[in-house]
Amino acid sequence: MKIAQVLEAMQAGRDMDHPLESVRLYYDLMARYYARIEEAERTHHRPLVILGIYTPIELFYAMDIVPCHAELHAMNAACLGGCQGYFDTAAAYGTPIEACSIQRAMIGMAKGGLLPTPDFIVSAAGVCDSEVKSLEVLVKHFGCPYFLTDMPYQGDPAGVAYYLKELEALVPFLESQTGRPLDWGRLEETVELSRQAAVLYRQVNEARKACPSPMRNQDFFNMCTVYAMMAGTQEAVDYFEVVAREVREQVEGKRPPLRPQERFRLSCAFCFPAFSPELLNWMEQEHGAAIAIDLVNYWRGEEEMDARRPLESLAKKAFYLPLAMPFIGPVENWSRSVIEMGRGYSLDGSIFFAPVTCKEGCATIRILKDRMREEAGIPTLVADCDMIDPSVVSEEELKGKLEGFFETLEAR
Ligand code: SF4
Repeated sequence: MKIAQVLEAMQAGRDMDHPLESVRLYYDLMARYYARIEEAERTHHRPLVILGIYTPIELFYAMDIVPCHAELHAMNAACLGGCQGYFDTAAAYGTPIEACSIQRAMIGMAKGGLLPTPDFIVSAAGVCDSEVKSLEVLVKHFGCPYFLTDMPYQGDPAGVAYYLKELEALVPFLESQTGRPLDWGRLEETVELSRQAAVLYRQVNEARKACPSPMRNQDFFNMCTVYAMMAGTQEAVDYFEVVAREVREQVEGKRPPLRPQERFRLSCAFCFPAFSPELLNWMEQEHGAAIAIDLVNYWRGEEEMDARRPLESLAKKAFYLPLAMPFIGPVENWSRSVIEMGRGYSLDGSIFFAPVTCKEGCATIRILKDRMREEAGIPTLVADCDMIDPSVVSEEELKGKLEGFFETLEAR
């Protein structure tokens, strides 16, 4: 699926009727994101970068570089149009079938001519080894310049200082690629916009502590996607303002109930099978199972960005950003997050959707499950699946497993 086709799908999503303004806005933002990529590839008026999702996006917006997150695009394309064709192309190239399916889809799309041709690629080593190796395949495929920032294991002061030096080295690389110096005032503005979005994002999380949960299951992934792709833009601030208002009004009883009843409050301790948003809807509507909180949106601590120290703020944020913090460094970061979520959000249970090809994620399952039970008294369901490939475990099989878990929770 080409960029233009995903753009059309996002525009169609935007033009549908939605009960929540934030959902229409989400599609609108994604349409704008894809429109910028499509335009950059067609006109070459602005440089286009393929970006690993752990690289500070604010720096690229500050330099008027158009970002394309190839992994998120591969997920979107696979969920919209199926992934087997991409897997076949990747396998023909030699990518092992044991590799992460998102990475295989991304490589298959590149080899099939379905990714935009970037001017350069930038990534960050620190969270997902598979991503780093896959982006190296893309660098070879496109024959373009590449910059890899190295992230240390710990986000302590020494680790932040090390990563700051990596970002300081990235700046001249970007200047040489764009032919323009970084406007530090503009970077301060983007960091400030990112800070404002993060403040609102945290307000949303605070409101999600309410019973019943003020957010629909099917909407939570939108938030982390918007922040990953658009932090540092006014568009992201506007989006989080709308979400924050909606959840506040929901808590205050100014909006109709989101589900017939709330029988179980659950967390998602990792990701979820993106190929089946309907599964999340079914959990909520058929079983009253609300995802009260989830790991990909959970901000730990109170740290905030300071626009007066923009690069240092970005270096620090790389370690406490929800999508990164649990996965960097020792497993304690992850287990503390799931336990905090369990206590802070009055959970009945937790679900670990386990993508079977994800080494990074699945290695932690036993530790997380045991600690959640021992320290928070909360049971965890581990449901094997794939993020984008329904042929690994089908939606029906997942429903069967979830129903068994709901019976267990009911009996407690
Ligand atoms: S599912 Fe696992 S291996 Fe795949 S991109 Fe995510 S962290 Fe990396």
